[in-house]
Amino acid sequence: MKTHLDWSGYDTYGIGDAYSGIPARGGNYAKAVAVCMHDRQCQREGRGVMCPSFRITKDPAHSTEARVAAFKAALNGEYGEQPFGDARLAAAMDLCVSCKACKKECPSAVDMVLIKTEYLAQRNEAHGVSLRAKLFAGLPALLSRWRLPLRWLTLARNHLPPLAFAAELTLGLTSRRPLPPPAARAFAQKGPVGSGKRGEVVLFVDTFARHFDPEIAEAAVTVLAAGGYRVSIAQAAADDAEPGRALCCGRTYLSMGMVGQARAEAKRVLAALGPAIAAGTPIVGLEPSCLLSMRDEFFSLGLGAEVGAMGKNLYLFEEFLAREAQRGLKLPLEARGAGKILAHGHCHQKAFGLMKSIRKTLAMIAGAEFEIIDSGCCGMAGSFGFEAEHYEASRKMGEIGLMPAVRAAGPADVIVADGFSCRHQISDGAGRKAVHMAVLLRDALAPA
Ligand code: SF4
Ligand code: SF4
Repeated sequence: MKTHLDWSGYDTYGIGDAYSGIPARGGNYAKAVAVCMHDRQCQREGRGVMCPSFRITKDPAHSTEARVAAFKAALNGEYGEQPFGDARLAAAMDLCVSCKACKKECPSAVDMVLIKTEYLAQRNEAHGVSLRAKLFAGLPALLSRWRLPLRWLTLARNHLPPLAFAAELTLGLTSRRPLPPPAARAFAQKGPVGSGKRGEVVLFVDTFARHFDPEIAEAAVTVLAAGGYRVSIAQAAADDAEPGRALCCGRTYLSMGMVGQARAEAKRVLAALGPAIAAGTPIVGLEPSCLLSMRDEFFSLGLGAEVGAMGKNLYLFEEFLAREAQRGLKLPLEARGAGKILAHGHCHQKAFGLMKSIRKTLAMIAGAEFEIIDSGCCGMAGSFGFEAEHYEASRKMGEIGLMPAVRAAGPADVIVADGFSCRHQISDGAGRKAVHMAVLLRDALAPA
């Protein structure tokens, strides 16, 4: 079986183990599936994130293990010659939100997000890509050309119920929640900004910060410059085929199984960041799923050793600040207002062990009282919560922990969430505006 992703990392799995249960077809991909040891930790309640689809349904059919079982059946030929289009596999994968909790919390580190990406790529190859998937995947490219028309269309759709119903009927976009409108202006700063007393930093501005929340990227520049860094904005390489188009990590393509397009975006990013990587300049990102995709999924795109070199230079905003705080960075941050700060971590921040850096960053604010919300997945999970058939599941996932905690927050409390999807889910499900950490810190900066 020809795979779309590089599964060579699983090459040695199962060697010498007659009971490893590796499916007959699929090579190293089958080995990645077979790492599950069927101890059903993914069918438990309690703390952590795994597995949100089991936690809302209480049905083992929607657990990580059931997904593994379906893939084993498919790769053992039980679903026929075209297993990736089989309805049983689709049913098993239907509620997987790609939260990566299994990669962190499953004792065998089953990487269902990557397994799902390969599955979607195989399914796309055999059966084509839906219009909705193409729209979600191609959003960064659409925004770079049509941001304002998309803004007007989204605002009209949000205010005119017949348009929302039409979008549900034709595209499968739920009419039961507003869509986030692109901003009236995109992030346009090019830098460099700042004295550079503490060195150079390259800011990677993702599609969501650039086109939906430019204030976040501007706030990050302000905070980093206040810390004494010289901040440049990552730009496409001079020899890029589309030098005017903003960089994008390719995450939206990957989440729809469009691996070829994701690889092309990843190559652009690697070429653009090459000089920073070679110089050892820290590269800071803002959106957890984008930055962590560059550190994680890029490895599976077969892009060579540069990915590892880039990974060593990549930091999520809080990670960078926490690291620098240990090296003597002092930011003039003071708590504003009387309320507490309640921070919700994106699933991928939890999966990569980055909640500590959120705590350390919040501790840099003099006089701040803060708490990390004991939440699982917010339930929005990229496009999942906008899909008509997944709206209810998305809402229920939010109710596991996050929404009750946000509703219980006092009016003066501030909710922090770095994930674009998480902020939208919080606004829609609990009627509260959540802010990115960069905005919180900018507002906490003492006047110069
Ligand atoms: S997926 Fe992980 S947690 Fe679930 S049964 Fe398999 S090994 Fe256990
Ligand atoms: S990625 Fe999340 S939803 Fe999917 S199987 Fe893993 S824990 Fe469950």
